[in-house]
Amino acid sequence: VKNNVDKVFSKFVVEGKCTVRFKDPPLDVSIKKADPLQLKILLNLLKHCHANEDFGGRNVPLISAITTKQLSLSRQMTIKSRAQYPAIGKQFPSSLERLTINSCELKRIDSRIYNLYNLKSLHLGFNKISILPEKLNPKCFSSLNELHLLHNQLVEISPTLLLKLKNTLGCLDISHNEITVLPDAICEMNQLRSLNCSYNKLSVLPKNIGWLRSLRELRISNNNLTHIPGSVKKLCLCHVNFSSNNFTEINAMENKPTLSGLSVSSLRECAAISVIKNKVKYADDDIPKILQHYLKTSNWSACGRPCFENYIAFKCGFDLHCAIDTTGEIVVDGSLIVPMEIAVCCHKCLRFCPP
Ligand SMILES: [Zn+2]
Repeated sequence: VKNNVDKVFSKFVVEGKCTVRFKDPPLDVSIKKADPLQLKILLNLLKHCHANEDFGGRNVPLISAITTKQLSLSRQMTIKSRAQYPAIGKQFPSSLERLTINSCELKRIDSRIYNLYNLKSLHLGFNKISILPEKLNPKCFSSLNELHLLHNQLVEISPTLLLKLKNTLGCLDISHNEITVLPDAICEMNQLRSLNCSYNKLSVLPKNIGWLRSLRELRISNNNLTHIPGSVKKLCLCHVNFSSNNFTEINAMENKPTLSGLSVSSLRECAAISVIKNKVKYADDDIPKILQHYLKTSNWSACGRPCFENYIAFKCGFDLHCAIDTTGEIVVDGSLIVPMEIAVCCHKCLRFCPP
């Protein structure tokens, strides 16, 4: 580069475009679709090198040309109308950490967003998104901590997306959609602190939801739940909202179950119970996919044992105080006792059933 730059055409740097003309060989290098901020840094560097400046191993004095305001602007962006939306061919700044796009009538997540590898918070509420991506490249959303998809038109949440986010996502807001089922994969999101599924069409919750060990806030108001799964007992929440659901009346619930409906467990169930109880680690190619899936359907009986098929589902009242810490907040319509479905597998389990 030293003394070899003939000319720089930088009129459209703000649009991420420029051309650098070299002397020897006499070539033009055109740059398109670049992040404007990074392009400015590059041109600055080129200018200094062309002028034959020796930086002697020191930090290149380029960042000083960029104001802190510019830097913070490129970390977050808020778009609240179609007019503010980047035109086709333009890119979002690649340094973005927080991106909010509201009320832009988006029908799906713009593929340009998948190239924002620094993204920590993505807020796409108040759009018309009905489909979420199934496959994403490994770097995409690799540090995403918050995902807000409220007020859209989702009918389902892709399990592969949830599994992709399971070690990073702390906050998921999918309220005000048309979702009928939450995939079991949501129970594997071990960083999830806050889950908002209010105003959807859920009639059941995944039975292992209580395994969300980081969960502190659970909002499931205005759905069609008739009961909650037994694993909710394991949660320690600071906020829970179960109001406006279709909970079965407690006094209309069944009598204490008898164990006559139980049979001898299948060999498959015995093996699976053993894998879970002994926390046997297995890799993807150790056992067939169908058995891996089976292992993920484990339920937990009232006595604390894993079970799969050989149990009796029994509904009884559960006091929500037992799933919330002492200073926590509970929002329900009426009684704090809600119907819970527990699994009964043995005589020991019967002790947990009210008479
Ligand atoms: Zn039992």
